[in-house]
Amino acid sequence: MVELKNVSVTYSNGVDALNNVSLTINDGEFAFVVGESGAGKSTLIKLLIKEISANSGSIKVNGFNLEKLRQKDIPKLRRTIGFVFQDFKLINTMNVYDNVAFVLRSIDAPAKYIRKRVPYVIGLVGLKDKMKAYPTEMSGGEQQRVALARALVNDPKLIIADEPTGNLDPKTSIEIIQLLQGINDCGTTVLMVTHEHELVKRFGGRTISLLDGKITFDDII
Ligand code: ADP
Repeated sequence: MVELKNVSVTYSNGVDALNNVSLTINDGEFAFVVGESGAGKSTLIKLLIKEISANSGSIKVNGFNLEKLRQKDIPKLRRTIGFVFQDFKLINTMNVYDNVAFVLRSIDAPAKYIRKRVPYVIGLVGLKDKMKAYPTEMSGGEQQRVALARALVNDPKLIIADEPTGNLDPKTSIEIIQLLQGINDCGTTVLMVTHEHELVKRFGGRTISLLDGKITFDDII
């Protein structure tokens, strides 16, 4: 669950990036966060992963109380979240299998579990026959599928997708959102940030609009 209560962020240059924002996203929800450039979307994401701290207000993410969270416990918070980025952020020198397995290896998951779990999640995103391919040999849509598998492999409670369709054509964008919806149907909470209003309108669902650091709309469309 994500819960912000009266959260404000002012950067050191005096810009109020978020202004008294309150927001609850329950477990199992799928929510779009929309807003033009400069609205505060990235600031919101940075808060949720404790890359930055709020100047005031309280934030809870997946049971972690972020004002009280100690530096050494930040990795524990982040392990409950899967990330998907606009530019995929895959490791080009690793094949698909290793890009996904890397996450589990880095937390010392048992080898036997890795051998089972990695092909399973790669299968979920429809890339079973591409396990040995390298990112540079794949289309943007395929690379984003790998990124989704990587986000899923550690069974996160929440997936944060930051403009995941920003580098994709419309048809592929729809496929990626459908995959995110499938992931959501299996119980994972999904927060997708986008500035593509047309896509949001097409899919509908809970939509949170930010403008100048304030929530101007939060409803099902
Ligand atoms: P979005 O992701 O919706 O484009 P941001 O959260 O990046 O919006 O930015 C919100 C506001 O905060 C903008 O006015 C932006 O210029 C400002 N801002 C973002 N990051 C910083 C920073 N590190 N230092 C100062 N101002 C920032």
